[in-house]
Amino acid sequence: MYTLLISIPDSNMTDSQAKNGATQSNPPLAYSAEEWSKIETVLLDMDGTLLDLHFDNYFWLQFMPIKYAELFGIENEEAHKVLKQASEETLGTLNWYCLDYWSERLNMPVAALKQDIVEKIQYRPYVKDFLEMLKQQGKRAVIVTNAHRDSVNLKMANTGLDQLVDRIISSHDYQEPKESQAFWQHLQQDEPFDLENTLLIDDSQAVLASAKKWGFKHLLTIFHPDSQKAPNTDSEHPGIHHFNELLHEERLDDQELEKDDKK
Ligand SMILES: [Mg+2]
Repeated sequence: MYTLLISIPDSNMTDSQAKNGATQSNPPLAYSAEEWSKIETVLLDMDGTLLDLHFDNYFWLQFMPIKYAELFGIENEEAHKVLKQASEETLGTLNWYCLDYWSERLNMPVAALKQDIVEKIQYRPYVKDFLEMLKQQGKRAVIVTNAHRDSVNLKMANTGLDQLVDRIISSHDYQEPKESQAFWQHLQQDEPFDLENTLLIDDSQAVLASAKKWGFKHLLTIFHPDSQKAPNTDSEHPGIHHFNELLHEERLDDQELEKDDKK
């Protein structure tokens, strides 16, 4: 039988995350034990879902404008405007997520610049607990991200997240962003999943809309993707603040606990 264990806050959780309410250890569960037992595969977005979106927001909205202004000898405000306009032009396309595209367009080594702030790459609260639980329960965990492979590699190297999931798929592998129906077509062939028992968790409303159109029945958004911003529950999809709302755990019986003690 499934039962809820009191969860231990993620050791990487920052103080500000704790202050924002991430320490509530036993919130209501998003799924009943029966509903949860039917989920066999969990497809997980990376940035803003498993990892704190603060890194990406800080990089693009604060760090890059300063670097751009320095490089081209313009005011910070002007640099903000240039980057904002470029962002708006490409939003929803694969280029928006493509480090090669931005390195060429901005004439800046974007992947290398990310190295300067790697300390900001952090897990979101309870993510490790959640992924360990999926492994224990024999559910398949696959990261499905729009992030460029260079960005994926940087994040894996700094978190070890790749050790906690079964597979990582970047939409750049298919040359189609998750916002496009063609992405799900590729995914369905490359990583077969059953819509009846597959859960997709993603903080992007555009991606969730695309997944819903494809026929996903189980969708969840993340209400608090950036630890440094206020939560936002304005979504047409059900959602969670943190992964402790999904921490169903299978209770180990006494025998298994004894076995573990002897290891
Ligand atoms: Mg995301």
